[in-house]
Amino acid sequence: MAMDITKGSTRVYIDPKRCIANAKCTTAAPGVYVLDEETGVAVIENPDDATIDQLFAGARACPTQAIIIEQFGRRLFPTILTPMFGAGKNSDESDS
Ligand code: SF4
Repeated sequence: MAMDITKGSTRVYIDPKRCIANAKCTTAAPGVYVLDEETGVAVIENPDDATIDQLFAGARACPTQAIIIEQFGRRLFPTILTPMFGAGKNSDESDS
C-alpha cells in the first residue's frame, strides 16, 4: 500500500492532511483505494494493477481533493486545488 505511486508519466498521491476518511474513493474504485487500518487515511493498494481510469474515478469522488494526479510533473487533477480550512500559515492567529 502506498500514498504516492508513479505509473509511467503519471503520479498519484494522497494528501493525508486533506483526507477525511469518508471512503468515497474506496467505493468509486474498490480494490484500488483502501483505508489504512492504522491511520484511517486512504492509501493505494495494488498500484501495479490499478488502472488510470480507476485512479481518476477515486480522485473525482473525493470531496476534499485529497487525491492528486500529476502527469509529467504538472497537476492534472484537481485543476483547482482549494485550500483547506486552517491550512494557512498562522491561521489561528489574527493578523493586524
Ligand atoms: S474520498 Fe478522499 S477524503 Fe474520502 S477516504 Fe478517499 S481520499 Fe480520503
